[in-house]
Amino acid sequence: MQRTLSLIKPDGVAKNIIGEIIKRFEGAGIRVVAMKKLHLSQKQAEGFYAVHKERPFFKSLTEFMTSGPIVAMVLEGEDVIAKNRKLMGATNFKEAEEGTIRREFATDIEKNVVHGSDAPETAAFEIAYFFSTMEIVG
Ligand code: ATP
Ligand code: MG
Repeated sequence: MQRTLSLIKPDGVAKNIIGEIIKRFEGAGIRVVAMKKLHLSQKQAEGFYAVHKERPFFKSLTEFMTSGPIVAMVLEGEDVIAKNRKLMGATNFKEAEEGTIRREFATDIEKNVVHGSDAPETAAFEIAYFFSTMEIVG
């Protein structure tokens, strides 16, 4: 069993598709083992995206991520990191496969509805960034 962090970004929450996204996870046999809705501060968004701090889009990305509430989830399942990334689709929705979350709902390379950890090490950091062990119920 593997775990990953999923975020529904402010654009996804504003579009009222929290349930639609969770339905896709559950439909793929993935279990939600922790979940909360929260509104990140600028500092918290910068800490989460620290790996991108030298990228030209860092300021815009962190401002977008603080522009409204998000939903954070821990997902659990076999090979769930890759499975979740497949359900999400490519970063750029124009390159995302038909039927993926980003292809259907993203409007912009930045406003791309969901985040998913990309490796076991980033998943461990990102899960601990949002949840304590007591908040994760497998
Ligand atoms: P995420 O980390 O959100 O799951 P990802 O792994 O597909 O997405 P990253 O390369 O880690 O993509 O970039 C993190 C986020 O930064 C992207 O999801 C997107 O919101 C934003 N982003 C990435 N590339 C660009 C870009 N060229 N211009 C604007 N924003 C971008
Ligand atoms: Mg990423």
